[in-house]
Amino acid sequence: MKIGFHVSIAKGFDDTLKGAKALGCEVAQVFVKNPRSWEQRVLSDADLAAFGRLSAELPVFAHLSYLPNLAKIDGDERNLKGLLHEAALCEKLGIGSLVVHPGSRPDRLSGARMTAEAIDRVHDRHDVTVLIENTAGQGNVIGRDVEELARMYEGVSNKEKTLFCIDTAHLFESGWDIRKKGVWKGFLDEFERTLGLDRIGLFHLNDSKAAAGSHADRHWHIGQGEIGLTFFRMLVRDKRFAHLGGVMETPKMGNMDEVNMEVMRSLLPPLVPRSSS
Ligand SMILES: [Zn+2]
Repeated sequence: MKIGFHVSIAKGFDDTLKGAKALGCEVAQVFVKNPRSWEQRVLSDADLAAFGRLSAELPVFAHLSYLPNLAKIDGDERNLKGLLHEAALCEKLGIGSLVVHPGSRPDRLSGARMTAEAIDRVHDRHDVTVLIENTAGQGNVIGRDVEELARMYEGVSNKEKTLFCIDTAHLFESGWDIRKKGVWKGFLDEFERTLGLDRIGLFHLNDSKAAAGSHADRHWHIGQGEIGLTFFRMLVRDKRFAHLGGVMETPKMGNMDEVNMEVMRSLLPPLVPRSSS
C-alpha cells in the first residue's frame, strides 16, 4: 500500500508539496478550498502551476470540504452548489478523485437517494470519480454499514466513476471490531459480496480514540488508539490492496505526522533485496 497523509493547502500548493515530500508521502489528500467556508475559490495561474508541480510528484486525492451535506441537496441549494464547485476545482486542477462523506438526514432512505443524485449531478458535468466514504454512523449520518453504502451505489447512474473510501476508524466506530481478524474478514466478505472489493479506491488509515461501536468520529494516532498496530500491519501488507493508497488523517499535533509515518513504515513488508546475479 502507498502511504501518505491529508496535507494542508493553507500556505499554497508549493508548500503542500514541500510538506508531503518531507514526510515521505507516496500519496496525498488535500482540500481544494477552505473547508470551513462556503466561499467559492478562484484558482490563479500560479495556483494551477504549483498544483501541477505537486501532482507530478505524487498521486493526489481531493476531499470534499466539511459544509456540503449531500443527503440534503433538496433542502439547501448551497449543498449541491458547493459540491459542484469543488468538483469543478478538481477538474481544473486535474484531480481525478474526490472523496465525499454521504451526508446526514433523519430519513435515511431518502438521504441515500439524495446523495446518489448529488453524485449523478457531479458526473453530469465533471470528469471526476467520486469516492463515497464509510462513516462512524453518528446521529443521522448515512454510510454506517455496507447496506447503506450499497444503497447509495445502486442509486448512482455512473457506477464506473463511483468508488469507496474505507476509513478504518469510522469502520471500527460504526461497530466492526476489526481488531478481531474474523470481523475484518467478515466486513471484506460482505463488501465483496455486495459491491466487490474492486470498488475500494482508497483507504483512510486512522486509529480511533473512541470505542468500537461508539458511533463517535475520533481519529487518533496509529497504534495509540483503540484499534492498535496488529490490524494496521495486516492491512498495509494485504496484497489485494498493494496498488491502493492509504491516507492518514491523524490529528496534526507537534511532530506526530513524522511519528505516525515512522510507525506506518515499520509495518510495511520488508523490501526484498534484488539478487546480484
Ligand atoms: Zn476519513
